[in-house]
Amino acid sequence: MPKRRYDVLLCDADNTLFDFSAAEANAFAIACAPAGVKSTPENLALYSRINDALWKRLERGEVTQAELRVRRFEQFMDAVGATGDARSFADHYADALAAQAVPLPGAIEAVARWRRVLPVVIVTNGISATQRGRMARSPLREMIAGMVVSEEVGAAKPDPKMLRLGMEIAGVQDPGRALMLGDSLSSDIAGAANAGVDACWYNPRGERNAPGLPVRYEIRSLDEVDAILTGEREEG
Ligand SMILES: [Mg+2]
Repeated sequence: MPKRRYDVLLCDADNTLFDFSAAEANAFAIACAPAGVKSTPENLALYSRINDALWKRLERGEVTQAELRVRRFEQFMDAVGATGDARSFADHYADALAAQAVPLPGAIEAVARWRRVLPVVIVTNGISATQRGRMARSPLREMIAGMVVSEEVGAAKPDPKMLRLGMEIAGVQDPGRALMLGDSLSSDIAGAANAGVDACWYNPRGERNAPGLPVRYEIRSLDEVDAILTGEREEG
């Protein structure tokens, strides 16, 4: 075993390891047909905005996962004047999304390296069937030590419970020995702060840390994580 700075890597899934935009676009197109809705770039953008807003509300505890699952399609169908069953649209979408295990470039290779240093636990805000279905189709399933899914927990990042459950899977009690890696300030990085865990912000587009959250490491590429795990890179 190489020298290591941390005993567990808590890793976000969407837009950190998986290409959520590609998965969402594919699943949306598949689910539109039975709902009688046109799968256009405009409709996808509209749905995506509605969905993002609801996930932000979930992070703030304003809606539940079960409400979000269907409400995003109710709101979308209202907005485009579609009639039909939002629940059935939601079911088709969740099934289609579960089949979309599109990794980001280099992500599988990166996890394959990291797991030789320490256990990697996925900590994701998502629907259980979607996240588990996708993981079952991904080579990552053999590489990770476990997965914490918000729908199963009944809490979502930035609730520190999510990260603590991830640490538990790896048998880690000291938050100082855990590292949270993710792209979202409002869920991953705020969650790390709430749990007293070091944060590594995957920020490929060089966005601004507007809320001024504590970020121990900021990276543009997943390849930068390797030096952090071994302690060669201490911050920055
Ligand atoms: Mg993410």
